[in-house]
Amino acid sequence: AKDAGRNRYCVFEARMSAQSRDALLIDEALQQAIARKEFRLVYQPIVEARSRRLCKVEALLRWTNPALGFVPPDRFIPIAEESGQIVDIGAWVLQEAARQAHAWAGQAGAPGCISVNVSAAQLTDPDFMATVEDALMRSGAAASMLEVEMTERVLIEEADTVIRVIEALHARGLGSSLDDFGTGYSSLSYLTRFHLRTLKIDRAFVNGIEHDARNLALVRAIIAMGHSLGMQIVAEGVETEEQASLLADLGCEYLQGYLISRPLPPGELPGLTTTTEA
Ligand code: C2E
Ligand code: CA
Ligand code: CA
Ligand code: CA
Repeated sequence: AKDAGRNRYCVFEARMSAQSRDALLIDEALQQAIARKEFRLVYQPIVEARSRRLCKVEALLRWTNPALGFVPPDRFIPIAEESGQIVDIGAWVLQEAARQAHAWAGQAGAPGCISVNVSAAQLTDPDFMATVEDALMRSGAAASMLEVEMTERVLIEEADTVIRVIEALHARGLGSSLDDFGTGYSSLSYLTRFHLRTLKIDRAFVNGIEHDARNLALVRAIIAMGHSLGMQIVAEGVETEEQASLLADLGCEYLQGYLISRPLPPGELPGLTTTTEA
């Protein structure tokens, strides 16, 4: 038993060091990733729940490095957040999304808005609004074509700063949404302090609403609460027709998920005939 325990410990140790070695490699490779043009954005459709009309898209970051290959965002973004590199990477994302928004402006079938994920370190960076302004100015995109997605965590940890940033974004004409709702630790009453426009229900709750009465009750309650705070609701991770129709019946305004579409390169969005890559 002692031996087994020790073996397990060695395996654990080896795994740990492989993990942190990978993290170091990723951190190092990320430093050149913008300059070497290794990032791109894909866009996942967000449709109106009843008509299935394309309203918005969410920009999702993709990274392929020559040595590391494709690295998923769940792997490299926490590392970039830890090192602070996410601030520069996030600025690139805003620039690229704004450029795409401008390219889509006025095109038939194009989404009216691009939603961009923004990390806590970006939102609390004193230069954040200047970065947004710069992206708008350089691209020529209208502010109303961009929306910022943030998670509950930053609301709690940096409440006063984030309240000001949300106000500044709205004053400038951008939208705002609360991502992954339900996975954080915000109390519902806490949410009244923030005037976010959209609430995105995390896919953990959407998943299984057709089989699990408690999940369905929870989603119904989240939608009612969001509406009572004047928010519009996006359901994330919608994978089946049954989920889509239940959500529409519950009054959820928007759907996002593999049922509707996977994230796509900009030229492959349904209804768009021309590619708009720079
Ligand atoms: P998120 O913001 O919650 O994005 C939704 C994730 O769920 C995406 O994963 C998307 O591909 C995936 N997804 C969409 N529909 C479905 C579905 O029906 N079923 C399932 N199982 N999954 C679905 P992705 O692209 O791998 O991104 C993972 C996370 O990485 C994002 O979660 C977000 O937190 C972060 N991320 C991605 N791009 C950026 C970025 O530009 N900046 C920052 N700060 N974070 C980003
Ligand atoms: Ca998101
Ligand atoms: Ca989400
Ligand atoms: Ca997430």
